[in-house]
Parts: sequence; C-alpha cells; structure tokens
Amino acid sequence: MISYEIVEHGKPLQKAVRETPRPQGTEVLMRVTRSGVCHSDVHIWEGYFDLGGGKRFYVKERGCVPPFIMGHEPFGVVEALGPRAKGVKVGQKRLVFPWIGCGKCEVCKAGRDNYCLSGRRFLGVDRAGAYATHLLVPHPKYLVDAGGIDESFAATLACSAVTAYSATKKLPKLGPKDWVAVIGCGGLGLIGVSVLRTQGVKNIVACDIDPSKLAAAAKLGAKKTLETGGADAVQRLQAAAANHLACAIDFVGMPATAALGMGAIKKGGRYVICGLMGGELVYSLPMLVQRAMTVVGSHVGNLQELKEVVALAKKGKLKPAPVETRPASQAARAIGDLKAGKVTGRVVLDFEAVAA
Ligand SMILES: [Zn+2]
Ligand SMILES: [Zn+2]
Repeated sequence: MISYEIVEHGKPLQKAVRETPRPQGTEVLMRVTRSGVCHSDVHIWEGYFDLGGGKRFYVKERGCVPPFIMGHEPFGVVEALGPRAKGVKVGQKRLVFPWIGCGKCEVCKAGRDNYCLSGRRFLGVDRAGAYATHLLVPHPKYLVDAGGIDESFAATLACSAVTAYSATKKLPKLGPKDWVAVIGCGGLGLIGVSVLRTQGVKNIVACDIDPSKLAAAAKLGAKKTLETGGADAVQRLQAAAANHLACAIDFVGMPATAALGMGAIKKGGRYVICGLMGGELVYSLPMLVQRAMTVVGSHVGNLQELKEVVALAKKGKLKPAPVETRPASQAARAIGDLKAGKVTGRVVLDFEAVAA
C-alpha cells in the first residue's frame, strides 16, 4: 500500500510504500478511494493541541507517534474480509465511521463509541487512518452504505457533517423569533449551515472574518452573514439577531470565538462548542449564573448520527458544502493550505489514481 505519512511533526507528509495489511478476525480491509482533509489534521500533523494558558496536549501521548498515517474521512471499496467479518461483500463501496471506541465498555455498548473512555481506536487519530490506499477497519458495523452520494462529498460526512450534526442536536428549543449563530464558516461551519437547514432552522446568522466564506454560507442558506472583525462584533451579532440569539455554535473553538458566542447569546441562551482550534475559557462566574447560560461541548458524533446524516444526504436534503477533490499526491500541500486558511469548504484527496 501507499500512504502519505507524518515522518516528523510539522514537516511535510511523505510518501511511503508499505506491506498491505491483512484483515484478521472481524477486520475489513478497505481500498480507499477518497479521504477528506480536516482541520484537526493540521493539529495532529503539528503534534499538539493548544490547551490554553501555555499548556499543550501532545498527540504522541495518545499513541500518535511518527511514522503515522492521518485521515479520518475515509470512503472506499471493501477489498478483503477477516474470517469473522460478516455483513459486507468484497467490491461494495462504503463510507467508514472513524470514531471507533473499544467496542466493549458501557459507553460503546450504548452506541456512543465517540465518548469511549477505555480504549479509543479513532481512525487517523489513535491508529492508522485514510491518507493511504488501504485502511483496516476493526468491524463491518462501522461501514455505512452511502450509495448515490458523490464520493468526495460522502467522505466529508464522516467528520465534518457528523460533527456539525451532533452539535446541532444540542440546540435548545427555538421560538419563532430565535436566531442561531454559526461561528466560523470553514468546512465544519459551512456544512453546519446545511445541517441546520435540514432541521428547519431558518434564522441563521453566519459569522466569519473572511467574506468569501460568508458568501459560501449565504449560498447554503444562512439568512444573514456577519464579518466579525473589530471590537464591536458582540453588539453587531446581537443586533443581527434582533437580541434573540438563542444559541451560538462555535465551529472554531478559540478565545475570540468563545467570547463572541458567549457574549452575544441572550439570557438563558446556549453556547455549543465543537471546534478545536485551541485556547482556554476564562469567564465570570456570577455572569454565568445571572445570564443563566448553558455551555455545551460536543465532540465529533456517533455511528447512529452518521447514519442519520447519510440518510439526509441520500434524500438530497443536505446541501453539500464546497468540496475540492485533489490527487492524493497533494496531501502535504492540502495540509499547508488548510493551515493558511486558503480552503473554502473541504479538500478531499483522491486515492484512485495512486497505484497500490
Ligand atoms: Zn475531523
Ligand atoms: Zn469503549
């Protein structure tokens, strides 16, 4: 198999040729055709997440030690089955659910693998991922039939869409005058606008510092857009929502976006954060009480949620965010472009032209 790997954190990904793994037990070997490039990959590639206050979480502490293959938005074809892998056939195209837990603990048994405490196996994060021609999946139950959906768009459902979908499930009950702010219109926020529209939310105000990303959000159905540079962004967001901002979903997750979302929501409002840009939250405790605010973290999504997102996409209800398909050989450049903020929507790597 051929992969584009981290050989040293922060250095360009390098092409490697390795022996193609053989599936054991319930494992399934997928031949990857598409692999989405997520902003989290930038952090994994750099080797750490910024925890704020000068603290860092180093991904090597979680087992992500170079050489490492990233990639948690995999779409491909079943190539081989372990002796106990049932329910799929060689040649079938499938989307891969990457947020795999230990499969044995109470949390996993309840279908919430993404919150597993006792042995996470997140593809492309904790173990080898999909920046490669081949990928081992622990069990066929993590394969989702996404037939009829464009393959590049389908790949992006595995992280960006399911993350946005899971975050929007944490919305409060909305009244007719209520607004929802989508903070950050990168790959995650743009599909977030689409997801909100599938749930009947119309009063969406999209926030970003980049006008081209705001234009993309408007196309997907955001009723208003707001350039959030400048000191008065909180007041302008409140005004845009006619002082009825019931919820802000932070798809960026940094001190400036938290200050915007938490500052602008109305009394009793909710701030949902699913972005991982980094930093820490410092907030007045009496204000938290007196504004009766709810702060909710939301991390990726579960298998059932992915199936629900796929169903919405199959029905044509989920409008695709912009997707740019590039040859897999451009993996290193894609990471660089994403870090520089030069990507609108998602870059998806095409592995079909890569000879295995
Ligand atoms: Zn991701
Ligand atoms: Zn578990």
